[in-house]
Amino acid sequence: MVKVHQKSEGSYCLGIESTADDFGVGVATFDGEVLANKSDSYIPAEGGIHPREAARHHAEVADTVLQDALSKSGVKASELTCIAFSQGPGLGPSLRTGATVARALASYLEIPLVGVNHSVAHIEIGKLQTGAKDPVTLYASGGNTMVTAFESGRYRVFGETLDIALGNCLDVFAREAGLKHKKGLPLGAAIEQLALKSGRLISLPYVVKGMDLSLSGLVTAATTALQKGDCTLEDVCYSLQEHAFSMVTEVTERALAHTEKKEVLLTGGVAANKRLQAMLKVIAEEHDAKFSVVPLQYATDNGAMIAWTGTLAYRHGLVTPIDQSMVKLRWRVDKVDVPWIQ
Ligand code: AMP
Ligand code: MG
Repeated sequence: MVKVHQKSEGSYCLGIESTADDFGVGVATFDGEVLANKSDSYIPAEGGIHPREAARHHAEVADTVLQDALSKSGVKASELTCIAFSQGPGLGPSLRTGATVARALASYLEIPLVGVNHSVAHIEIGKLQTGAKDPVTLYASGGNTMVTAFESGRYRVFGETLDIALGNCLDVFAREAGLKHKKGLPLGAAIEQLALKSGRLISLPYVVKGMDLSLSGLVTAATTALQKGDCTLEDVCYSLQEHAFSMVTEVTERALAHTEKKEVLLTGGVAANKRLQAMLKVIAEEHDAKFSVVPLQYATDNGAMIAWTGTLAYRHGLVTPIDQSMVKLRWRVDKVDVPWIQ
């Protein structure tokens, strides 16, 4: 990214999200109003996300999602100030499809391109929508699980998964249990519904190492417990949630105690889960901190968060020349300067 000039008020940013299974387009004003947030998600016929299939899906729906978002926003393409896109982290083929659309739009409209870090965007949309100012954030999704807080110019990672993400842990178990991903009912939500029907806690691995955690052994143990057949699917869903959510809550609590921040924010696709919300609320209250959760429509990957974060970056003079707009598959949140926070 390079520094250019400042932008005045009354401007619009169009944001494109395409890190994994979702292709999203959002339009936001520089004042933080989301004018549109449209998306279309790739649902694998079976198994997990196939990166090339996801990219093919994104290429197929890009035009429609883009048109829908623009028409919902009431903003003409010629009125846009800049185009923001998810530059990473994520799956290469998915990222490259969104980046290609963004580059083409920015070039055609002759307006700047702004590469946005996907994890930063999840935190910023959470702050925008809840009013949180300086939270300890648990960002938990299908591809990422980390506890962050702002310190010295960047969002620092206080703890993270050492292997798979929390959403992926739920998704993998759900598939092993034969559950099917349906439109409007992600696998994590299906597990949440089943978990409500049990209160029987079976013992599963609980792995917190310092400030980090590991979830892959938990999935294997949960799958084995189900196959043994001495407990129900509902019992395993309940126990899986209790173990996994306790782990991320423990790490979040320690980050809160260490930083002495007064807010806890939950963001990312798994933020939709009521049990996880309840656990975090308890630790927040114990530390006299305010608990906030990102609204459902901004929890999972979406274009609005990219558009909003694009405005923050652009306002601080950050743009991405086309020849520096290659996607960054492993772009960590703590490698990104966030000059909009003083
Ligand atoms: P994202 O990666 O941010 O798009 O979020 C998708 C992830 O959120 C997937 O792993 C879903 O299974 C998970 N998810 C969505 N809704 C829920 C829920 N109610 N409980 C737990 N996980 C959920
Ligand atoms: Mg997703």
